[in-house]
Amino acid sequence: MRVDLIIPCYNEEEALPFLYDALQELAQNEPAHSMRFLFVDDGSSDRTLFLLRELAEKDERVRYLSFSRNFGKEAAMLAGLRAADADATGILDADMQHPPALVSTMLRALEQGADIAAARRTLRKSQPSLYRLGAELFYKLSNRFSDVHMPEGAQDFRLMRKKVVDAILAMPEYHRFSKGIFSWVGFDTVWIEHTDTERVAGKTKWNFFSSFQYAIDGMLSFSTKPLSMMVLVGLIISLIGFLYALYVVITTLSGVESAPGFPTLVSLILFFSGITILSIGLMGLYVARIYLEVKARPHYLIAETNLQETHHG
Ligand code: UDP
Ligand code: MG
Repeated sequence: MRVDLIIPCYNEEEALPFLYDALQELAQNEPAHSMRFLFVDDGSSDRTLFLLRELAEKDERVRYLSFSRNFGKEAAMLAGLRAADADATGILDADMQHPPALVSTMLRALEQGADIAAARRTLRKSQPSLYRLGAELFYKLSNRFSDVHMPEGAQDFRLMRKKVVDAILAMPEYHRFSKGIFSWVGFDTVWIEHTDTERVAGKTKWNFFSSFQYAIDGMLSFSTKPLSMMVLVGLIISLIGFLYALYVVITTLSGVESAPGFPTLVSLILFFSGITILSIGLMGLYVARIYLEVKARPHYLIAETNLQETHHG
């Protein structure tokens, strides 16, 4: 098989040498397959692009694309998938947290007929526990509230047949949430478990805020259920308010002296304005998404590449 491996890189100068060694070893262990390494430099500000040019110079299996600025990992993966042209296309992180040796196991799965071999991390032991809790909550919520199922610990680390890549590329949305897209397209998937490891060098590009943003993005991308839920909740609450008003009118008419009621009033106002703000916010999120989709801007801009029209061998 012809195999293209996509590696999104953002400031990975420290990790790249380790990764390249591992990739070479992988290619050596798989002489039956012809491999290419497709690095996508996501607007790195360190020497990543310089290293990629060097690697491409001495190794003709190395291809690279370089963005004009940082567009994010989703854009980098998309650019890689568009540039890939192989029977099987893989995606892996540059920091060795997705062990390249595992690609061999994935190849075996594809040889045996699977369409997708995807990695699932079993233990997030290198993650701080607050992050772990957040991730668990995310999977629980999004599996409950959206139409696609994402197995817990699912990653972007995977190997896919060409038809799967074509299906993914046929999804034109601006907000790309790969975990959701991968699961939405379906196909015959084999899950490969691996334990989590520390990144080999360099620093993670994620912080609390970006992880939170990612989780929100993911849930909004694949579901409008939160919107309908809000409508239902709003309806029920208004009904309660109506019944309560009715109750007050009746008791007053029948001569029952009502309490001053100031606390009730305040708490009701707070409660309702809370709900209102929440619904408006939620609606705003969807509208913002429509706005961005409608503009249909390119996902990324390529500043430099050594990709030509010539493909595998
Ligand atoms: N990455 C990228 N663009 C970004 C952020 C990250 O291409 O804006 C790449 C990064 O170089 C790495 C992968 O995405 O290859 C995963 O990033 P990282 O290791 O920082 O994430 P973590 O493993 O901590 O979730
Ligand atoms: Mg990492």
